[in-house]
Amino acid sequence: MISFEMPERIKNELQMAEMVARQVMRPNSRKYDVHEHERPVEYINVMWQVLREQNRRRFEKQMQQNGNGDRPQREGPNWSIVRLIAMVEMLSWGDAGMYLCTPDPLLGGAAIEAVATPEQKVRFLKKFGEGEPKWGAMAITEPGAGSDNSAMRTTAVLDEETNEWVINGEKIFITNGKLALEESDGVCVVWATVDPQAGRGGIKSFVVERGTPGVSIAKQEHKLGIRVSDTVSLAFENARVPYDNILGSPEVQEEKTTKGFKGAMKTFDASRPAVAASAVGVARAALELAQEKLADEGVTVDYTKAAHEMSAVERDLIEMEARQKAAWLLTLKSVVEMAHGQSNRLSASMAKARAGETATYVTQKAVELLGPLGYTHEFLAEKWMRDAKINDIYEGTKQINQLIVARSILGYTRRELK
Ligand SMILES: Cc1cc2nc3c(=O)[nH]c(=O)nc-3n(C[C@H](O)[C@H](O)[C@H](O)COP(=O)(O)OP(=O)(O)OC[C@H]3O[C@@H](n4cnc5c(N)ncnc54)[C@H](O)[C@@H]3O)c2cc1C
Repeated sequence: MISFEMPERIKNELQMAEMVARQVMRPNSRKYDVHEHERPVEYINVMWQVLREQNRRRFEKQMQQNGNGDRPQREGPNWSIVRLIAMVEMLSWGDAGMYLCTPDPLLGGAAIEAVATPEQKVRFLKKFGEGEPKWGAMAITEPGAGSDNSAMRTTAVLDEETNEWVINGEKIFITNGKLALEESDGVCVVWATVDPQAGRGGIKSFVVERGTPGVSIAKQEHKLGIRVSDTVSLAFENARVPYDNILGSPEVQEEKTTKGFKGAMKTFDASRPAVAASAVGVARAALELAQEKLADEGVTVDYTKAAHEMSAVERDLIEMEARQKAAWLLTLKSVVEMAHGQSNRLSASMAKARAGETATYVTQKAVELLGPLGYTHEFLAEKWMRDAKINDIYEGTKQINQLIVARSILGYTRRELK
């Protein structure tokens, strides 16, 4: 029988994450929701220590294994991905916006993992024992290129004299752009075309580091939810990055294939399960609060009752719970496929679409069931309702992920089903 129990080692780490969520995130949630753009220093400081210690231990272990601290070749499933997704769920149960402020490359790291050569992974991601935690960002969206990001206009042109890529364009809604490029020695993976005539085939990604000349923060967004999370527009005006910062093959001739853009898709295969996990965490937070407050009033679900004997509130609670659990199982499926090195494109989009919708539904229901107080600052439910919506938007909107699922199941191409 397949067991969905988390292994003991992961459970221990989750306990630590739950402690951070309860003691550091939740008590500060309201403060950073109200004071948008302030950094959640309590959370960042704790996670900084935790991640530094974790990575120092990993580095030492790798030193013992192969003497140079490099990651050894992996044999068998990569369970660290499952661990990561479980941590995302738990930290988002604490506060989804604060989780996005974790001093870790997150989406930028996923983009590097998906496309970089082994040497580049070492160069951009190897840390600890060697360096401090870093933030990472990924910039793909532009004013005219969101859902259809192959329409991007940002260009990267090789200056053969200096052997640098010269990037020009604008990227919008970039999570952690400021933290990565202005407030720490982080990295931002920027997608640009090296050949505007080649469509998807011309698109490549570039690692832009802090201090790169010609890069500036053009705007910082005010948002409905996840208000503590940093979201900015980035302007690139003749921004120069070293030739070796192009991820994947530096051979521009190969761009006539869609290889470069496949890197973006591979990044989404990794990031969509993480967004789904975050959505499930928010949904679970709202569900548990509604269950707790209703139980205080004597309303609990009796699962042995027939449907026609249940009250409307009980049926609502059961529906919320069923949707939250289904979304979590889909998320686990997508991440376990990934851990086994199998393609998870279909399940990642299914999980992302379903979990985003679930978080939106469950948090709204929680606000409704809590009555007028659910609509006030008395509880965090109204904040979670605002936080939940982003999961229907970034990493491909719900509609786009549903399109991907439909194409995959029905066997249509992008052209045939738009
Ligand atoms: C808080 C926040 C953080 C973000 N972080 C990042 C980040 O770190 N990096 C990054 O690159 N981007 C980021 N984004 C951008 C995000 O990924 C895009 O907003 C998203 O992909 C949608 O693109 P768009 O806004 O251009 O909407 P559009 O593509 O203009 O879509 C508008 C609406 O039309 C629908 N639609 C579009 N095409 C179709 C279709 N073919 N069929 C059916 N419906 C369709 C969409 O689902 C949506 O509802 C972020 C956005 C926000 C709000």
